[in-house]
Amino acid sequence: MKKIPTEIVEKLKAIVGSNNYIDNPEQMAAYVNDIWNQYHGVTPLILKPINTEMVASIVTLCNECNIGVVPQGGNTGLVGGSIPSESDAEIIISMERMNKVLDIDVINYTMTVEAGCILVAVQEAAFAVNRLFPLSLGAEGSCQIGGNLATNAGGTAVLRYGNAKELVLGLEVVLPNGKIINGLRGLRKDNTGYDIKQLFLGSEGTLGIITKAVLKLFPLPADKVTSLVALSSLEAAPKLLATMREVTGDNITAFEYMDRVCVDMLEKRTELSDPFAVKYDHFALVELTSSRDNAGLQTLLEEIITAMIEAGDVVDAVVASSETQAAQLWKMREMLAEVYRLDGGGLTFDISVPVSSVPEFIKKASQACTQEYSAGVVMAFGHIGDGNVHFIFLKPNNVPVNDFLSATDEVSTLVYDIAASFNGSFSAEHGIGLLKKHDLVRYKSEVEINLMRTVKKALDPNNIMNPNKII
Ligand SMILES: Cc1cc2nc3c(=O)[nH]c(=O)nc-3n(C[C@H](O)[C@H](O)[C@H](O)COP(=O)(O)OP(=O)(O)OC[C@H]3O[C@@H](n4cnc5c(N)ncnc54)[C@H](O)[C@@H]3O)c2cc1C
Repeated sequence: MKKIPTEIVEKLKAIVGSNNYIDNPEQMAAYVNDIWNQYHGVTPLILKPINTEMVASIVTLCNECNIGVVPQGGNTGLVGGSIPSESDAEIIISMERMNKVLDIDVINYTMTVEAGCILVAVQEAAFAVNRLFPLSLGAEGSCQIGGNLATNAGGTAVLRYGNAKELVLGLEVVLPNGKIINGLRGLRKDNTGYDIKQLFLGSEGTLGIITKAVLKLFPLPADKVTSLVALSSLEAAPKLLATMREVTGDNITAFEYMDRVCVDMLEKRTELSDPFAVKYDHFALVELTSSRDNAGLQTLLEEIITAMIEAGDVVDAVVASSETQAAQLWKMREMLAEVYRLDGGGLTFDISVPVSSVPEFIKKASQACTQEYSAGVVMAFGHIGDGNVHFIFLKPNNVPVNDFLSATDEVSTLVYDIAASFNGSFSAEHGIGLLKKHDLVRYKSEVEINLMRTVKKALDPNNIMNPNKII
């Protein structure tokens, strides 16, 4: 794509009006660099439309003039999907000014929102009417619901409520030709041909711009118990999860794993401390919730833990006695996404395998990494109730950064091949963006890749919508 002619830039500015764009490179840093400063782009223009019609007019003009469009939400994505290329030939459409909650139907358990609503604001609006919007992730104070849907975000409550795509009933989307699909229906049943909205969920802005959504709501939890459980082995984690699912009537909302390396890292780099006096090796952060008041969850949890201690799978547990203590336990898990970066960083993997295969995957992948660098240390944590492991191979102190980074492809292939051997995924929840484009070609079948290309070509023949991302 070529540099954008000045007269087109002026026409684009005129569509949104003088207060709704940035054309000064000095004010663009937060939009052209990603959150961890790993991806950097250049653009002549960042547009901040305030309604769907503006988005449609921008996209129509860009399509006519063959100009690349990068949709951007909170810019918290971890694979470079929201950053333009360095060619100065793509504009950014930031959705931040389309941030209104439009409607809440408490009886239908739905809410209609604009795509630029920050996730926390969506949760708070639901809470204000005694309803729950359950999507929850570490970046929730910055990411936008449009970005969550475009990446099919996961997070900590997938076990109970599903991924972002399972929380959507309807979408409004601006297509690459500028036409608007108005599918803002709050229906739980609608078998009227292809479910077109599914195309856009997880498409990372390559097929269209999500402008509004109808989201599913749930009853608020009235009873809740949170516990950090110390396990006798990694293998005990899926066993505990399976038991909890059976015994609690599937009231388990979150089941997060962390290993000893994680807890040591938290102690070294943050104010947080190990709540146990003994140094255990494996931990599960567990949360049970029920919309029924006094559902007896704490008693149930304690009974399960006692039985699992007797069976030798659990060695100890801390049950939060207050909201503050529960928040402290959650903070341990949430800080893990950042804390290893303070310690020199490492190669990060966002893997999923069947829940029952998680222990074997972690063991095999750890062995493969340490065969490559014997001084390397692996840190594993994640949403293992969903089979999703954030697996990090920390840089050994004695290996220079550049040498370590030069082995990225080799180590990644080792880890991804092991995940593939379990029929797993090399990108559980973070998407493809720029980072994993070449892995997509390696791990998806030719039939699937060709189908993806066919869909992209059909919707976006001029390849203007988030060009060069995913495929
Ligand atoms: C500390 C931290 C913790 C995280 N934890 C999790 C986690 O637990 N689970 C998880 O899944 N992710 C997690 N993430 C990753 C990230 O927060 C999610 O991918 C999130 O959904 C991205 O939303 P966003 O608004 O920031 O999107 P952006 O980063 O702005 O964009 C992401 C992609 O979506 C596209 N896009 C954005 N808005 C739209 C739109 N309206 N229409 C069409 N396309 C659009 C962009 O072009 C880009 O390809 C975490 C990130 C951080 C920094």
